[in-house]
Amino acid sequence: MRYCKRCVMPDTKPDLWFDEAGVCSACLSYEQRPTVDWAARRKELVRILDQFRSKDGSHWDCIVPVSGGKDSTYQVSRLLEFGNESADRSDSRNNEGHYFHDT
Ligand SMILES: [Zn+2]
Repeated sequence: MRYCKRCVMPDTKPDLWFDEAGVCSACLSYEQRPTVDWAARRKELVRILDQFRSKDGSHWDCIVPVSGGKDSTYQVSRLLEFGNESADRSDSRNNEGHYFHDT
């Protein structure tokens, strides 16, 4: 078994790959974070949400498939917060944050 030289992630993780120095793709992706245009990414997310969200609040606005682990649970938590922030800013029909629904 091969392990990342930086974080010791094993190569048994699906879709993980290593560079020539033995650093895994997750570590390399993390290093790229400062180069990401987060404002543009947020704008794109809002555009997608606006395209698919329920127009009258009677349906689900999106589905977030999760494994139940801490990473995916955190994603749900952040999306719920983001949905409420977005709804407060852009949705004058109500302020209940109908971008996302908790189960
Ligand atoms: Zn790594």
